[in-house]
Amino acid sequence: MRLTVLGGYLGSGKTTWLRHQLYLGTFGPVHVVVNEAAETAVDDALLGGAARMTLLAGGCSCCVGRADLIRALRDLCDQRTRISASAPRLQRIVLETSGLADPGAIVSAIQNDPILVNHIVIDETIVVVDALHGLAQLQTEALGRRQIGSADRLILSKVDAADPASLMALRATLCDLSPGALQSGAVLGEPVALPDLPTTAAAAPLPPLDEEDTRGAIFPTRLTIDEDIDWSAFAMWLSALLHARGNDLVRVKGVIRTPAGRLLLQTVRKVVQSPEILPEQTGPREDGTVVFIGRGFKPEDLRKSLRRFAGKT
Ligand SMILES: [Zn+2]
Repeated sequence: MRLTVLGGYLGSGKTTWLRHQLYLGTFGPVHVVVNEAAETAVDDALLGGAARMTLLAGGCSCCVGRADLIRALRDLCDQRTRISASAPRLQRIVLETSGLADPGAIVSAIQNDPILVNHIVIDETIVVVDALHGLAQLQTEALGRRQIGSADRLILSKVDAADPASLMALRATLCDLSPGALQSGAVLGEPVALPDLPTTAAAAPLPPLDEEDTRGAIFPTRLTIDEDIDWSAFAMWLSALLHARGNDLVRVKGVIRTPAGRLLLQTVRKVVQSPEILPEQTGPREDGTVVFIGRGFKPEDLRKSLRRFAGKT
């Protein structure tokens, strides 16, 4: 099966673009996998009419929700091998990542999975860039730069709304960040020709973003997680936390009680290891405690932010 990864920053217009491609039949018969980490819930009807769809909610597929993504893709591989010879076989998957995702991390997770590597060929990573706000985002967001860097193809959305000079500056900047990537334009998903990029077009200067700047002692903070916490809110909070402060959080580890049982939760930097269900135990109980080891934040701020997000700690 061929897989297209569709990425782009929050609000760049990924869903609009994809919806129009499904309408146009650009990808042919396709199964769409949509991951939402923090965006508002997608209207299923938007994509549902045009294609078969799997919705992955409650955690970004490049980090917190990585295990869910791998499981969903393995299921699709399974279905494909089981299906009868007469039925048309699924040939293509389009994965719409969350706006917080690093598509490069998703591609390497798929390529490093011993099962998926035998069933899925990654065709292309397409990244949608907002022609209006893209340049401003690249000034301040390291994630935005990483997304561009992982693209094989860049779709500049909303090109009708951008003035020609800033469009040129954006294009030249994108050439610098992702020299090999093809650039094309779109308005509401409809392809629009881009004006030629003159060789004299200058890239916008991008200030260095040193994410490792907040030095200080590394220390542990223990948070107590209630059993009746809202799990999707907790996963979303952890996802957002790792994206925003992943370089400050060296490690997160703990055993939490979930409706599925005792869950071992671990992250290293921005990578969340596959959650593991542990056997019930009778010894000293540490359930419900998660340790956050890092630097550059106040323990109380961490507690407050979880309380605000998920209600209970
Ligand atoms: Zn992620």
